[in-house]
Amino acid sequence: MKVRASVLTRIGATRPYSVSRPLEVEELELDGPGPREVLLKVHAAGLCHSDLSAIDGTRPAERTPLPMILGHEAAGEVLEVGAGVTDLKPGDRVVTTFVPSCGHCVSCMEGRPALCEPAPRFSAGGVLATGGTRFRRGSRTIHHYVGVAGFAEMTVMVRDSLVKIDDDVAFESAALFGCAVLTGVGAVLNTARIRAGDSVAVIGLGGVGLSALLGARMAGAFPIVAVDPSDEKLRLALDLGASLAVRSDSPDAVARIRDSTEGGVHYAFETAGATQALDIAYRVTRRGGTTVVAGLPAGNLQAPFSHASLVAEERTVKGSYFGSCVPVRDLPRLIRAYRLGQLPVDRITGATVRLEEMNEAFDTLAAGTALRQVLVPA
Ligand SMILES: [Zn+2]
Ligand SMILES: [Zn+2]
Repeated sequence: MKVRASVLTRIGATRPYSVSRPLEVEELELDGPGPREVLLKVHAAGLCHSDLSAIDGTRPAERTPLPMILGHEAAGEVLEVGAGVTDLKPGDRVVTTFVPSCGHCVSCMEGRPALCEPAPRFSAGGVLATGGTRFRRGSRTIHHYVGVAGFAEMTVMVRDSLVKIDDDVAFESAALFGCAVLTGVGAVLNTARIRAGDSVAVIGLGGVGLSALLGARMAGAFPIVAVDPSDEKLRLALDLGASLAVRSDSPDAVARIRDSTEGGVHYAFETAGATQALDIAYRVTRRGGTTVVAGLPAGNLQAPFSHASLVAEERTVKGSYFGSCVPVRDLPRLIRAYRLGQLPVDRITGATVRLEEMNEAFDTLAAGTALRQVLVPA
């Protein structure tokens, strides 16, 4: 069938993308779903910093096979299911997940599907976990970003990468659960497992950081310190329940946070994928506290913290990938929290954009002040 999509045609284009235009809207051929696969109408797909990292070449470090359809945080409607898919039917609403976990490697069997061992191989090749690609332009193959390829009117995905949600959840909000919400809230609830009354700092208020803030609030953390270079984001953070907002570029940021939290926070979350943010996160973590690192940085960076304090202050530094989540367990649970008003994801959802506006939208994302933009492809 014919489908329009936003296709990444080259990596490392100079900004602004509104001029260099690395993303092009193209009409492609899309195969129907094979065994274990699902054809999906994409109703909404969030624009995430990881998509930007694929465009500008900071990630993945290994080569991104081009051309490729980006987008790894989407919500849509099942149009057709392939052979062997018995638990989804046309009309069902689903949210995508971007780790195509196999269900039977050691990590999957240990309940940590975000760390699925074969998954990175499929993602690096730009193919589905069922093998190969489903988009074509003439004889040319178009690759799938991390098994999702959400920046398209329709996409084909492996059934195991989809989680069914209730019929009355708006697609634009549901999409954010696929990356930002699972990653940010998951870092707080799954990776850190904070307790009510623990003090928290969130460094970097993108979609993941704002989600971490909402998660910390839901879990009863206090105080919650928000850290970002944007005054607009800091104002929003205070509105969403942060008790203190600090500009990350102010020279006394660390001292102010330590002073107002009796020597530092129990848990600091780095959600910017930047060495400077990790440096702040580590330095504002209290003695005996935990620094959770959830932002995905460029592949060549080394962590910047004091070896001695790690020992003498019994610090913990903990990585968090995809919120240490089990999507089939966590996604419905967090959607329920959203429906009950406990997780106001609408407040961190920004403008909707069309397929033709993706280059401009990634310029906006790169500027760092906009809320999570959501592509509505058709
Ligand atoms: Zn993402
Ligand atoms: Zn696995």
